[in-house]
Amino acid sequence: MATRDLRSDDPSTDPDADYDYTSDSVERPGLVDDLRERVDGDVRFDSYTRQLYATDASIYEALPVGVVFPTSTDDVAAVVSYCADRGIPVLPRGGGTSLAGQAVNEAVVLDFKHAMNGFVGFDPEAETARAQPGITLAALNDELAAHGLKYAPDPAWGDKSVLGGAIGNNSTGAHSLQYEKADGYLESAEVVLADGTVTTLGWVDTDDLDALADPDGDLEARIYADLRRLLDEEADRIRERFPDLKRNVSGYNYDRLLADAEAHGAVNAARLLAGSEGTLGIITEAEVSLEPVPAETAVAMLTYDDVRDAMQDVAPVLDHDPSAVEVMDDVFLDLARDTDEFADVVGLLPDGTDSTLLVEFYADSPAEARRRVADLLADRLPSATPAADPPGATTTDAPVHAVDALEAYDDDRQAHFWKMRKAGLPILLSRTSDEKHYPYIEDTAIPADHLPAFVADFQAILDDLDTVASYYAHAGPGVLHVRPLVTLADEAGVAKMAEIADRVTDLVVEYGGAVSGEHGDGRARSQWNRKFYGEDLWASFRRTKAAFDPDWILNPGPVCGDAAGEIDMTDHLRVAPDDEFDAGFDPALNWDTENGFRGMTELCHGCAGCTGHQDTTGGVMCPTYRAANEETLSTRGRANMLRSAMNGHLPADPLDDEFLTEVLDLCVGCKGCKLDCPSGVDMAKLKTEVKHASHQADGVGVLDRLFGHTEALFHLGSALAPVSNWATALPGAGALAEKTLGIAAERDLPTFRRESLRAWFDARGGSRVPEAAAEHTVLLAPDPYTNYSTVAVGKAAVRVLEAAGVHVALPDGVGTSGRPAYSRGLIDRTRRIARENVAALAPKVADGWDVVYVEPSDAVMVQDDYHDLLSSAPAASVAANTYGVCEYLDRHGLDAAAGFDADGESLAYHGHCHQKAQQRDHHAVGVLRRAGYEVDPLDSTCCGMAGSFGYEAEHYSMSQAIADILADQVADSDADTVTAPGSSCRSQLSERDDVDTDGAPPHPVQKLADAL
Ligand SMILES: Cc1cc2nc3c(=O)[nH]c(=O)nc-3n(C[C@H](O)[C@H](O)[C@H](O)COP(=O)(O)OP(=O)(O)OC[C@H]3O[C@@H](n4cnc5c(N)ncnc54)[C@H](O)[C@@H]3O)c2cc1C
Ligand code: SF4
Ligand code: SF4
Repeated sequence: MATRDLRSDDPSTDPDADYDYTSDSVERPGLVDDLRERVDGDVRFDSYTRQLYATDASIYEALPVGVVFPTSTDDVAAVVSYCADRGIPVLPRGGGTSLAGQAVNEAVVLDFKHAMNGFVGFDPEAETARAQPGITLAALNDELAAHGLKYAPDPAWGDKSVLGGAIGNNSTGAHSLQYEKADGYLESAEVVLADGTVTTLGWVDTDDLDALADPDGDLEARIYADLRRLLDEEADRIRERFPDLKRNVSGYNYDRLLADAEAHGAVNAARLLAGSEGTLGIITEAEVSLEPVPAETAVAMLTYDDVRDAMQDVAPVLDHDPSAVEVMDDVFLDLARDTDEFADVVGLLPDGTDSTLLVEFYADSPAEARRRVADLLADRLPSATPAADPPGATTTDAPVHAVDALEAYDDDRQAHFWKMRKAGLPILLSRTSDEKHYPYIEDTAIPADHLPAFVADFQAILDDLDTVASYYAHAGPGVLHVRPLVTLADEAGVAKMAEIADRVTDLVVEYGGAVSGEHGDGRARSQWNRKFYGEDLWASFRRTKAAFDPDWILNPGPVCGDAAGEIDMTDHLRVAPDDEFDAGFDPALNWDTENGFRGMTELCHGCAGCTGHQDTTGGVMCPTYRAANEETLSTRGRANMLRSAMNGHLPADPLDDEFLTEVLDLCVGCKGCKLDCPSGVDMAKLKTEVKHASHQADGVGVLDRLFGHTEALFHLGSALAPVSNWATALPGAGALAEKTLGIAAERDLPTFRRESLRAWFDARGGSRVPEAAAEHTVLLAPDPYTNYSTVAVGKAAVRVLEAAGVHVALPDGVGTSGRPAYSRGLIDRTRRIARENVAALAPKVADGWDVVYVEPSDAVMVQDDYHDLLSSAPAASVAANTYGVCEYLDRHGLDAAAGFDADGESLAYHGHCHQKAQQRDHHAVGVLRRAGYEVDPLDSTCCGMAGSFGYEAEHYSMSQAIADILADQVADSDADTVTAPGSSCRSQLSERDDVDTDGAPPHPVQKLADAL
């Protein structure tokens, strides 16, 4: 019998799972064999992997030669020296969150995030840390938290982007008012140079440079010779042409070199790698200096009627010495208002709010934090009275522009404000039309005093070219993220983009600003460095590049062009005017609100929001990535593959069996992306659509048929109980089930009750609350699990609803919601079920009845997924009156009437991912707390069972790998008991040896019934 030990812990290498990410055609097999001989890490040159690494968060696409996943410096050196000998370009890559296209190239990609992601050590005396380049900034800071220290550069996606990438782009973030960019914290680095040599670059006294420098020597000596040249020959030009701004990451950061030489009498060649975008050398380990973590923070969100008012206010706000000042304008706020996640914050803003400034303060104590906010409001709000404690208060003479302010002192509220601001960029990208807010001139930095005039002139360019943009980001240091709306689907749109970039660059030069304040040059902006810095410095950049990389193999193109000096922002665009889209089928679901099926397949912009981990990112998206740390298994990976197969960039048939298996099979359909992806990519829906098309083309397989008909199976199981239960418990039954049906032998199959919920309910004579006496009447829909297996949950729901004075009935002709069939891609069958259910329920709903499910995925099926199947008024009315059981109690304020009186037992609550996607899972927490329980709501992802997914032998290891994440969270909770509304979550938890459940964990409604 296949047992747990036979399976690998790693889902990607599970012998029972047929997922070979490298199975597709390999372009250069000889190269692969050579590299495999030389490195320990994985080498993947198949077309799927190459396509996955062809994009980043930018508008560009460049197909790499292949991808290597190095495990050590030796691996990196081996790849570079092999490629250098053959003139093959090499591109180091971290999280691939770059916005200007510097993380894609026709090169051998080295993915550092996958395996070279370790924390190396902390030096308490020097207060420095050493780490590998693939460590995320969030993980690095987790390691440092115990010392009260942090790595200060804080790009918004620091839980997804990594140290090597942050250095590569010279990143910084919202707190650059207080801190340096990444170059300012780089003390030394182990570097693989362009010929494969491994060296350590760090501080060198300027007096010692001569001894190290030799323009005709080895690579390292030539690098020092170039530093000498820069100090001796270019210093005046650098002073003259580099803007006097903290925020400028365009070109090579010569200004840092000069500043270090002047301040310390020493230079640090490693720091020249910061912001070099992988073009000068490859960092394999970095030593970075650290900053203390502030004791307290507080946030005020100032509101304005006009973005120009907000800009006018930046300079006086800066006089209050904030740690951050972030602007969000009307376009941004309107889009945020339409998201489920941020509608609540935007709803708090006064009517007519056009823009906000989010102002954050650091402080040593809560009292000081409050005082600093009060001080700001007293100075900047028209209605505020001067601060109660004026000594030391800052007041400015500037006219008052703000209208009102929201304040945040507790961590959750502050985090929510910040989350909205940080989600800004992808929120803008949630437009499903052809015109999008693409990044190409989105990162200008302008001295604060010039911001109002710059914004006015920028706006004039947009008006002239008949387009609009949103202004948001780090107003404090003058960094504005402005993304003028254009289409790249036709030549005119591409030309318009280039013209806007050109004219804005002129504006930036005029106002003494920078073309890139933090995102870098990449493919989008490198060409403007010529105009921005002038021909002499452009030539100097190219000399530096040639000194570090004589054969121009390290990420050629970004910063100063390729070997021939070429770089054009309109080359390598991901959306090309001649792109044709062919899904290969006619969609069967309703995609009207998503700009059609194509709109949804093109919605992912590659921001990598789906590549965070549970402990640092939280939320639901994307459990399979979290379990396996594989780009293929992220929402972005799936979206990239689907889009590329349908627009012809990947030579694959999207309905081909192997393609479907590799790309979509492991998506558990949790809907996490629908909620957590700020652009709203809905991969669960895409999967259902594509699976349906594949069924149409090739027929329906055994497992899809079996699991798509759970209603009939459960009915049979119940009718034959207890014999059916004995049969499934017999020795060898599991092995047989695996052999014949593909159901994992390790799984405990559901047990069936002879007396169904419906039979029990009829036998007791229906509801104990007469209809005439009840204010609320509910149709409790018996899904197959509740009706035939977990009958106790249904009974508890009846007891609880009746205790709250609700008249309950079990609706005739309503069983499954169709969820199992839907998740297997059986759209026609699901639509039939949905029609029947709506026909049965709609007349009662019209009479004032509500519909309640105890099973969350069934409730959400009716509330949400029915919209995609039936566009009818009755379906909409049933959806609007359908609830999960705790949601029903909470929304109608019925729990008080029930008179719960729990004994204070503590519960760890694992919400169902489908309810989370609908933002409905918090209702249970509220009701349980009011009933007298202490509740610890787990910030958990999917449980990994995902309906029938985890029962399948080929999914078992992935299912368990996801469940490991939940099991750790349950173990970390101090609660006595874990509770979960989803029946598959409860099955998954009850099978775990490492979760103490004493049988199946209870549904929250069972805990409520216990408290009656
Ligand atoms: C939603 C969103 C918000 C963002 N907000 C910010 C922000 O607030 N501030 C900010 O600065 N940026 C921001 N960015 C841009 C980006 O996230 C950062 O620049 C980030 O630090 C890049 O890290 P990464 O791991 O994704 O690097 P990648 O994109 O993978 O690589 C970045 C560059 O570094 C090079 N590189 C990678 N590893 C190495 C190595 N080992 N040695 C040498 N070079 C290497 C690459 O070749 C590439 O040129 C944002 C991006 C997104 C999508
Ligand atoms: S799926 Fe969403 S979160 Fe992931 S990369 Fe695409 S847009 Fe970003
Ligand atoms: S539905 Fe879930 S598993 Fe599938 S891509 Fe979205 S988040 Fe990942």
